[in-house]
Amino acid sequence: MSATEFTTDLRDVEFVLFDQLHVHEVLSSFPRYADYDRDMYLSIVAEADRIAHEIIAPINKIGDREGCRFDGKGTVTTPKGYPEAFKFMSDNGWIGLVADTEWGGTGLPHIMEMAAGELLTGACVAFATYSGLTRGVANLISSFGSPEMKERYVRKLNQGRWAGTMLLTEAGAGSSVGDNRCKAHPTDRPGVYTLEGEKIFISGGEQDLTENIVHVVLARVPNAPPGTKGLSIFIVPKFIPNDDGSLGDRNDIVCVGIEEKMGIHGSATCTMSLGSNQPCFGWRIGDENAGMRIMFHLMNEARIMVGVQGESTAAAAYYNALDFAKERIQGPDIHDVANGWTPSVSILKHPDVRRMLMTMRVLIENMRSLLFTTALRMDLADLSADAEQRERHANFVDLMVPVCKAHCTDCGFDVTRLAMQVMGGYGYCGDYPVEQYLRDNKICSIYEGTNGIQAMDLLGRKLRMKNGVLFMEWLAEFTAELDAAKGKGLDKEVTELEKARDQVGAAAMHLAKFAFDGNFSSAMLHASNFLTALGEVVLGQHALAQAVTARRLLDAGEGERAFLEGKLANLRFYCFNLLPHATTLSRVIRSGDETCLESELFAEV
Ligand SMILES: Cc1cc2nc3c(=O)[nH]c(=O)nc-3n(C[C@H](O)[C@H](O)[C@H](O)COP(=O)(O)OP(=O)(O)OC[C@H]3O[C@@H](n4cnc5c(N)ncnc54)[C@H](O)[C@@H]3O)c2cc1C
Repeated sequence: MSATEFTTDLRDVEFVLFDQLHVHEVLSSFPRYADYDRDMYLSIVAEADRIAHEIIAPINKIGDREGCRFDGKGTVTTPKGYPEAFKFMSDNGWIGLVADTEWGGTGLPHIMEMAAGELLTGACVAFATYSGLTRGVANLISSFGSPEMKERYVRKLNQGRWAGTMLLTEAGAGSSVGDNRCKAHPTDRPGVYTLEGEKIFISGGEQDLTENIVHVVLARVPNAPPGTKGLSIFIVPKFIPNDDGSLGDRNDIVCVGIEEKMGIHGSATCTMSLGSNQPCFGWRIGDENAGMRIMFHLMNEARIMVGVQGESTAAAAYYNALDFAKERIQGPDIHDVANGWTPSVSILKHPDVRRMLMTMRVLIENMRSLLFTTALRMDLADLSADAEQRERHANFVDLMVPVCKAHCTDCGFDVTRLAMQVMGGYGYCGDYPVEQYLRDNKICSIYEGTNGIQAMDLLGRKLRMKNGVLFMEWLAEFTAELDAAKGKGLDKEVTELEKARDQVGAAAMHLAKFAFDGNFSSAMLHASNFLTALGEVVLGQHALAQAVTARRLLDAGEGERAFLEGKLANLRFYCFNLLPHATTLSRVIRSGDETCLESELFAEV
């Protein structure tokens, strides 16, 4: 461990995978993963960790300092080392991790994509954007494309020979995707359109990593209904593939500029012009006007992966800060102050620094557990033989997507901010990587739907889906876990969690009533507060799950005592220091105060 080098915690990754989730046992009951044993999973984690350290982490700082370059004529050059690293990832099967081997993928379960993803993403989040989007586009075309589209694109995307992007955002259509104006005109070839418009903020819209780029674009066909219901989705390749798979004509989708931005400098954020000089051909996926439904498919997975971005950069920052705190000598031990002058000690000894480090640690370990659990439930939603079970797992994933995306990115930023605080002025300066992690981390709460939009999705859609079943099922599962944890020496913490669970339940009921009465602004005023409160309780649930696991191992005399006792301390700290905030938020939500909705406010400008 070092205050400057990229550091990971494989012990904790393995604890969640094997001791807590029993991935090797749970998945081996399904034919698809019958041959995967613990050693196989361990070797995947170890290899991802090696690649993260040896191949990816070394390009992180270079990418930040050098950034992407645009030549003014449509060409974008990524930072030094990016093309070689991307080629390595492609050649070694790290792009289409979950996709079937017959479609060029590696065939791993989602949980391993998540575990490997944490290590690989934390090493360089900017670089991870290229493979993440490629994976998502391959998955989207696999699920919704015609057999011919699948044949043409999916293998090459999964192999990383071609990269994928998603083009939703326009200058006038950010969060309000339904305001998209990009036009799609039918041609005389069925399913083929010419597209016209401009998209902004497109990650990887142009790059020098792959020979071709497969854009998926939202656009509006003639006479489409307004809003999201009138959006269709198209494959728009940079080079139109010939029937034999070779690259054909250059399509008129061109990068006309890239953004200067706060972080992720190695990820090219492009303005893309479609059809401004020549026809820009697009191939429609699915039916006309079905674009949003299809795009949501890509967005669910992408949103969880953004949660991983938030958590993994925060984890990298935490390990640096922890090491720094051990080394940095400053100020006397508080017990010695009364004795006059005493030598300075490591800042790790100061209570305020310990508070910050503990907050960071517990948030990271709880987020890791939440993200891995959600990925495992994705696997179970795909694999379970029983339709009811499949639906239950899918419900869990649907409910947790906004929590993973928004709460993990908010907490991730907080953790990274604390890492800088622990390091004082050194943390603020470029010799240490934490200032880059902080800058890189911020975008996670903004793209893939801002966290405010995630909160509205949770409250306005997920809580109402299937008459509230998603939330009720989660409550029932959590209650069963709380009951099972009683009598194991964790009762005080269980009581705190029960109180917080009831508070979040009361907040949900309160907000549901607003929605029922058609009082949407009162409900949405508290959407973010509600998401945070739920996220805080969910992270408490994961602290409990880990503590229960640790207790079991301790009682059995297995595992490393100090590490396992650390999990019990995590739960204690979380319940008495961080969880009470969920109760405060529940009170805020139910306070009836709507000051900020008063129309006179902000009128002076
Ligand atoms: C580095 C980077 C990479 C990106 N990559 C991609 C990409 O690959 N593809 C792509 O299509 N887009 C991409 N984006 C765009 C990104 O998804 C949008 O920036 C984001 O969705 C927010 O849109 P906006 O910036 O227009 O903000 P706005 O929509 O203007 O939002 C501004 C604020 O208002 C709030 N707000 C907006 N509408 C509402 C509402 N109805 N109710 C409550 N609050 C609201 C938002 O939460 C936010 O706080 C990227 C952006 C960046 C910066």
